[in-house]
Amino acid sequence: MTSMGNALVSVRNLRKYFPVGGVLFTKAWVKAVDGVSFDIYEGETLGLVGESGCGKTTTGKLILRLLEPTDGEVYFEGKNVFKLRGKELREFRRKANIVFQDPYTSLDPRMTVFDIVMEPLRVHGIRVEDPEQFVVKLLYEVGLNETHLYRYPHEFSGGQRQRIAIARVLALRPKFIVLDEPTSNLDVSVQAQILNMLKELQKRYGLTYLFISHNLGVVRYMSDRIAVMYLGKIVEMGPADEVFENPLHPYTRMLLASIPVPDPKISRSRRRTKITGEPPSPINPPPGCRFHPRCPHAKNVCEKEEPPLIEYSKNHFVACWLYAKR
Ligand code: SF4
Repeated sequence: MTSMGNALVSVRNLRKYFPVGGVLFTKAWVKAVDGVSFDIYEGETLGLVGESGCGKTTTGKLILRLLEPTDGEVYFEGKNVFKLRGKELREFRRKANIVFQDPYTSLDPRMTVFDIVMEPLRVHGIRVEDPEQFVVKLLYEVGLNETHLYRYPHEFSGGQRQRIAIARVLALRPKFIVLDEPTSNLDVSVQAQILNMLKELQKRYGLTYLFISHNLGVVRYMSDRIAVMYLGKIVEMGPADEVFENPLHPYTRMLLASIPVPDPKISRSRRRTKITGEPPSPINPPPGCRFHPRCPHAKNVCEKEEPPLIEYSKNHFVACWLYAKR
C-alpha cells in the first residue's frame, strides 16, 4: 500500500459477519468487520482506534486467527494465515500473540507465576535449560523479580498482573503482538508505566504491535500510524502526528474533540465538531457512508454511496465524500 518498509502483516478485504440469533434461520448479520485492508510494517506500532463495537477487537482476533473470517485474507511474513496447517500454524502461533484487556480473567488463578509464564513453552514443546532462571529473567524484563515466582495472581495488583501476562507472551520470543486495550482497566499512573515498558520492550526485541484502544490520546502516544475504525470500516489512516494534527474525517475530529487534553489545536476542532448521536447498530448499518446519521457535513450522496478509502496526501488515507473526486 505504501513504501514504508516491509509489511509483516497484510490485511486484505477482511470481513467477519456474525449471525444474529444463531446460524440456522438467521436473517440478520452483525457486520463486525466489513472489508478492511491495511499493512503493519516491521518494528512499527499501528494504532487501531474507534468506539466500542466498531470491530477493532474482532479485527485483532482475525489477524491472529482466533476467529475464522467470512471473507478476505491476512498475510503474515507473506503467508496466508487462514491457510496455515500443522507445523506452519504452530510457528505462527509462536510468533504472533495477544495481550488482553483484562488481567483479572486472562491469568489462571490456580497457577503460580512460574507456571503461567512456562505454560506457552510447554504447549509448544520448547525446552529451556534452567526454567527458573528463564522465568526470573523474563520477570525482570517486565519490572517484577524472583520474589514473585511462586505467588498466585490474586496476590498482585492489576498492573502487576498485566506485567505477568506480558512476560507470558514474551516467553515465546514473538515478533508480533496484538495489544487489545492493555491498560484501559488500570489507573492512569500505572497505565503510563505499562505503556512505557511496552515501548522499551518493542525497541529491545524489535517487536511489531497492533495497539487497539478506544482512547485516541493513548493511541497517539503509542503509535507510529493510526487507523480509525467506524462500524466495521476503516475511515481514516495515516501517520499518528498527521492524523492528530490534520484530522480529515468528521468522525476522527469527533473522537479528537472528546479527548480531555489542553491542546489548542484540539480545542479548535472541538469547536468545529460537536459530539452527536450514538453509533448506529452494526446489524443494519446505514446505507452509503455509515457515519452519515451523525455527520454534520452529510450531503445527499453520503446517504446513497459509500465513499472509497483514498490517499488524500502522502500515506494519509480517508473515506469521505468531502475529499473524494467524483
Ligand atoms: Fe460525513 Fe459524507 Fe464524509 Fe460520511 S462521506 S463523513 S456523511 S461528509
